[in-house]
Amino acid sequence: MSKPITKLPYFLGAESEAKEAYRTIIDQTVEAITSSVTDTGAYKGAGVDELQSLMGQTTILPQAGTGWDAVLEEVKKTILPNFLRTWSTNYMAHLHSPALLESIASELILSTFNQSMDSWDQSPIATEVEVAVVNELCKLYNFGTDSDGVFTSGGSQSNLSALTLARDWYCNTVLGHDVKKKGLPSCYQRLRIYTSEVSHFSMEKSAHLLGLGYDAVRKVPVDALCRMDMHALKTMLSDDLKEGLLPFCIVATIGTTDYGSIDPVAQLRALCDAYNLYLHADAAYGSGVQLSQTYQSRLGNLGLCDSITVDFHKMFLLPISCGALLIKDKSQFDVFTLHADYLNREEDEEDGYTNLVGKSLQTTRRFDALKVWMAFQCRGKDGFASIIDTCIGNAAYLAQAILSDNQFELAIAPELSSVVFRLSGSCEKNKQVRRELLHHHQVVIGQTVYQGRTYLKFTLLNPLVTHQHLDELLSLIKKLGSQVQ
Ligand SMILES: *Cc1c(COP(=O)(O)O)cnc(C)c1O
Repeated sequence: MSKPITKLPYFLGAESEAKEAYRTIIDQTVEAITSSVTDTGAYKGAGVDELQSLMGQTTILPQAGTGWDAVLEEVKKTILPNFLRTWSTNYMAHLHSPALLESIASELILSTFNQSMDSWDQSPIATEVEVAVVNELCKLYNFGTDSDGVFTSGGSQSNLSALTLARDWYCNTVLGHDVKKKGLPSCYQRLRIYTSEVSHFSMEKSAHLLGLGYDAVRKVPVDALCRMDMHALKTMLSDDLKEGLLPFCIVATIGTTDYGSIDPVAQLRALCDAYNLYLHADAAYGSGVQLSQTYQSRLGNLGLCDSITVDFHKMFLLPISCGALLIKDKSQFDVFTLHADYLNREEDEEDGYTNLVGKSLQTTRRFDALKVWMAFQCRGKDGFASIIDTCIGNAAYLAQAILSDNQFELAIAPELSSVVFRLSGSCEKNKQVRRELLHHHQVVIGQTVYQGRTYLKFTLLNPLVTHQHLDELLSLIKKLGSQVQ
């Protein structure tokens, strides 16, 4: 056991005292974390009142600091026992993954050195790592040599960035209007984005932020498998054009948040070519499947899109935050480029220094690319393929089990790793079962609405989930269902 720290140094440094203190706080933290994990449950079950009252007991900003030992005790008592355990095989509520072990080492490294990705002189090797990882990703998703990309805080920021590029591309090339300098064109209320009715809500949020408003997002009906209905989309486009509206972008969802359904990229590309539209792929969920030989063809060729949202904190099992935006024509990043004398001087860039801030909505930015760099090398394509194949296989197994049991109803056959289903009977019964699981059985599952009725959802991102475990959970759900009605 390491000895208590009486006076905590500020930083890690070359002095042995600083190194010793660094090692001590890390060792003690690791000890506190590992000893807090005492069972396989996903959540201890504490409710809102209990947690709020815990917060009420803490003085967050005392006049005199309590010191490291006291704060670690407080964390052990208040925080660690009440964490959700993302690695638990009973956790399957959202697209929210456990973090691969090597990526926790990455987080320690990147926080310790605290590089910032805006300019080369704040992140020399980190910039070069991000550039190399982005190049590898562009190849992985079949983008050519003119492509580029940037790490983001996740899918929402990637989508907002992509829609900004799409809007500005259209206004520049079709309307001859430079939004970057002049703001929105006078016809801005007629600009339209097309995406399926089950696409992610970051579409609307982005449209709002881009000055276009929610009404600019045209929600295309879906077919029985929750994929964009191509016929409906074509009708909408031609009707809208007749009315004088200005379609500029289609967003294909490659793995919808609830159903994992995948819009048909090749058909959408053809339509975008015919109407001169930008095609963005929101592959926040499905992007991981590119590493699976077995299932990759389900995604279609994402290289046909103008840009792709990739999320590493979903199927790739890396810690939050970790996402990227890839674009086919790197010159489009000019939209985000602005030079400041104090940060990213053009003269430095001419001499070969890369300042990544020119591609990002963020200025100060985390070195998240390290997590991908380390995990890709550590696990390899085969390692990721095996994780993803297991999860998709589990979803197929679960769907089959649901179909063969007349107490359950399946929403749609899963394309990726999430399964939406319900206990036959009332919506209220399904809602109560989910709450019961959360507070009394350490099991955290999802809930959504399909065709107007409440459904339950398993999002299977954890490759440690077994068929037997899924069978047991279904039995538990049936048992609780019979008790609550
Ligand atoms: C999760 C998700 C997003 C949002 O990504 P964040 O990383 O949570 O910002 C966007 N689109 C889809 C389809 C998603 O599933």
